[in-house]
Amino acid sequence: MKFNTVLLIGAPGAGKGTQGKILGTVPNFYHCACGEVFRNLTVESELGRTFIEYSSRGELVPDEYTIRLWRTYIENRTRSGQFRPEMDTLVLDGLPRNIYQAKMLADTLNVIAVFNLTCPDRSKLVARLQRRALRDNRLDDANVEVIIARLSLYDKETKPVLAYYGPDLVRTIDAIQPPILVLQSLLAMLPRPA
Ligand code: AMP
Repeated sequence: MKFNTVLLIGAPGAGKGTQGKILGTVPNFYHCACGEVFRNLTVESELGRTFIEYSSRGELVPDEYTIRLWRTYIENRTRSGQFRPEMDTLVLDGLPRNIYQAKMLADTLNVIAVFNLTCPDRSKLVARLQRRALRDNRLDDANVEVIIARLSLYDKETKPVLAYYGPDLVRTIDAIQPPILVLQSLLAMLPRPA
């Protein structure tokens, strides 16, 4: 059975996590942030060390590792009853990060909407990430060079995912607005439950 899924796509700092967390509090929505799945690994594990190695350079963790880890995570959440695929809509944030990952997930996800959180002004994203570095103690947001690498990687690898899913599924939202207005737009454009 494929998971009914809403994707949150946007550059680092665009607010995917903020919006995903809020949506995840609504009954019958389950939020999963791929970066959080990685951050919950311990440094003692091989995968945890791999994550630190790549994320500290602003790079993506290799696709096979990522998809394997995510599948294990979501299987565990399903087994424990936290995610109920037959009634919940999955709100996926930070995955897929490139077309290859999107293809690998095609047998698992029934994508019903793709929210494209846009912010053309890079300096605003950099400022947001620097604030987050202090607040959340995130290594990958602490260094401007790493931030720039992550933003460039987004343009090169992740943006093409929007074309992969196509205009019928993609809904674009201005991520510069205050979070409450982003949320309002998102809720207005969310497909109605069947
Ligand atoms: P995020 O919290 O989404 O900004 O992700 C933080 C870091 O985790 C990224 O810079 C990557 O190193 C890694 N990461 C998160 N999601 C993925 C993914 N789908 N594929 C590969 N690496 C990822």
